Amino acid sequence: MKIVLKNLTKVFEGRRKKDPDVTAVNNFNFEIPDGKLVALLGPSGCGKSTTLNLISGLEEPTSGQIFFDDEDVTNVPPENRGIGLVFQNYALYPHLTVLQNIIFPLQNLKGEERLSMDEMKRKAKDVAKLVQIEDLMDRRPKELSGGQQQRVAIARALIKNPRVLLLDEPLSNLDARLRLRTREEIRRIQRETGITTVFVTHDQEEAMSIADELILMENGVINQIGAPQSVYDEPANLFVAQFLGNPKINVLRGFVQNEKLIIRDEVFMEMKNTPDKDLFVAIRPEGFVIDENGTLTCNVRNIETTGRDTSIVATHDASLEETIRVIISSDEARGIEKGPIKFSYKENKMFLFELSGERILL
Ligand code: ADP
Ligand code: MG
Repeated sequence: MKIVLKNLTKVFEGRRKKDPDVTAVNNFNFEIPDGKLVALLGPSGCGKSTTLNLISGLEEPTSGQIFFDDEDVTNVPPENRGIGLVFQNYALYPHLTVLQNIIFPLQNLKGEERLSMDEMKRKAKDVAKLVQIEDLMDRRPKELSGGQQQRVAIARALIKNPRVLLLDEPLSNLDARLRLRTREEIRRIQRETGITTVFVTHDQEEAMSIADELILMENGVINQIGAPQSVYDEPANLFVAQFLGNPKINVLRGFVQNEKLIIRDEVFMEMKNTPDKDLFVAIRPEGFVIDENGTLTCNVRNIETTGRDTSIVATHDASLEETIRVIISSDEARGIEKGPIKFSYKENKMFLFELSGERILL
């Protein structure tokens, strides 16, 4: 089932008169395709949870509409939307067993929908198998690891065969190793069930690795939507370029003068048909080439080898950050020493931006 957001806006009024209103979601228009896993990605406070809560019905929009396929669900209460919800803090009932937690949503069903205990147990077994916790059914939450607890929460979210699965930072309470494993599990479960899934995270690497599509947000505004690799390769603006990638993209101040782009005192590249102006030059860490004819002279401060790759920490007066981070293969890095170094760049790893952050397409 696809989810469609149409001119969706949520404004939170300031608590007191003098507090300003907050537009947590500002005129969102997008479609989440049937059967896909889409990540809502952005820094804390950018409106991810609010967007998810609008889709689930836990929050009411200030204006705009939400459709599940062609059905307008804007005024449908959460319990009738056919959604499964998973939060960061598992929210399991501590005094209930895993089985009892999983079947909990079924126990409130009324009338014709009501199931016998045997039917509930059979359903619980199916979802427990899917998330691989069949052997833990009699335990209580405190007897489980964080990763296992989150699987129980996912099983509980799946037991009513939801049309949509909504996950709000589901991995944030797990340690690094479990986070990786559980992330792969969620991907597998989503593929196996084919449930349209919205996954909220502030972690760009997590979003990149798990999602079919990214929706990158900042301050209640959508910056870019697309497949992870294409957003990485073609960032629409400086914010997106800086948000995706680790180490972060390197940004330098430059200016155009007489159709040449100059960084500090070097002609970095020709820029035909461009008026004189200031701009930003951004180069991905993997976009540098050691080249004695290169047009960017940096100063190597530190060289860290990690086997396959070498990470060069350098400085440059025009850099926005204190250091420039370069990653090249260890073979290419052989013989590098501290001190001045000349780089050229890979064209598909270098981007230009206006001072406003808007991309300058060449
Ligand atoms: P995220 O999940 O991306 O961290 P949220 O959606 O929780 O962001 O919040 C977006 C913005 O809306 C923030 O500025 C937050 O303070 C504000 N906000 C969220 N919920 C409420 C609320 N119930 N009342 C007032 N402001 C809220
Ligand atoms: Mg949140």
